[in-house]
Amino acid sequence: MKLSTKIIIALIAGGITGLLINLIAPGIFPQLDQFVFTPLGKIFLNLINMLVVPIVFFSITLGTAGLGDPKKLGRIGLKTISYFLMTTTLAIIIGISLGFILQPGNVGTFDTSNADFKSEEAPPVSDTLLNIIPTNPFAAFAEGNMLQIITFSVFVGFALTMLGEKTKGILNLVEQGNDLLMYLVNLVMKFAPYGTFGLIVSAVGSQGLDAIKAMGLYMFVVLLALLVHSIFVYGSSVALIAKKSPVWFFKGFGPAMGVAFSTSSSNATLPISMSTAQKNLKVPESISSFVQPLGATINMDGTAIMQGVATIFIAQVFNVDLTFTQLITVVLTAVLASIGTAGVPGVGLIMLAMVLQSVNLPVEGIALIIGIDRLLDMTRTAVNITGDAACAVVVAETEAKREARKA
Ligand code: ASP
Repeated sequence: MKLSTKIIIALIAGGITGLLINLIAPGIFPQLDQFVFTPLGKIFLNLINMLVVPIVFFSITLGTAGLGDPKKLGRIGLKTISYFLMTTTLAIIIGISLGFILQPGNVGTFDTSNADFKSEEAPPVSDTLLNIIPTNPFAAFAEGNMLQIITFSVFVGFALTMLGEKTKGILNLVEQGNDLLMYLVNLVMKFAPYGTFGLIVSAVGSQGLDAIKAMGLYMFVVLLALLVHSIFVYGSSVALIAKKSPVWFFKGFGPAMGVAFSTSSSNATLPISMSTAQKNLKVPESISSFVQPLGATINMDGTAIMQGVATIFIAQVFNVDLTFTQLITVVLTAVLASIGTAGVPGVGLIMLAMVLQSVNLPVEGIALIIGIDRLLDMTRTAVNITGDAACAVVVAETEAKREARKA
């Protein structure tokens, strides 16, 4: 059986098991979760997290060195960042528009009297951007600071290109390190179906069904916006710019989406999303290893969608009419918030506080959605990494065309 089929079966079986436990015997869930499901999920998460930092270093260094020409690096960088910014802006606009059309905060009653949410101090986005250059790369590695590791790796890759023959030994080492890590990714993926199963049962089993019912329309709007964005924005950019079939794209990238769905973490899924894009979507290693790690850190369209819908939802629940200028503020801050969101579970909700504050909406509103956010986090993470892969395909195809024209 193919690994992707096994992952899909694990996702469905995990969902059904979680739901059944929730319906039939919610009392036994904590014990089962503690001894069976959480350990299965945790082993898998640890296995993939173990590979993330070295993979980012080896692959970006190799990718940058592989591009050769510094001009090419600049061009790919520009295309990548433009794609990220454009798609994230579209994502928020789709989220806000569907929030306005379907009015999730005006249908049903929401008790806000006890709503209480202490927003954790979200790191200012300016800090994230200013700290992009590590003063100590080893500290960046130890802390797993993705943006800093990316910057350092780009520098090393660039130097390897410039020094050529002189540093051939190091280049060989990086190449072999990359092969070694990709081998380990394939090995770890053998455990993916079991890990995915454990993660999904934990997530679904721990959700109160009443909370889901109460928040049904909000969840529906977020899910619909995620679907619309994936089909229209990713589907059409793959079809129109890269001239590839969207069905081929989604089918090929499916296994990585399944893993993102179960882990709720773009970072943890990175090794798998890179190997899936390289193998199934035929994205050259040099492009995949530059675009995808960067995307897993700064490109979060799914998160931006949730932030757009949540802002409109909270405004409706608290009866606040947002002006056009405020809506533009929401779009701008949500773009920044999604750039500043780390690719780990739940951070998108912390960054939502920043968006709400920008237009003086009550941060306590987050208390209403926090209970069901885990399920949405799974889905938006799958969209987050799909955006990175769509960008990689688009950049790869436009670069290939350029090469062909030159030849
Ligand atoms: N879990 C998301 C990710 O890793 C981030 C978020 O929206 O919380 O991509």
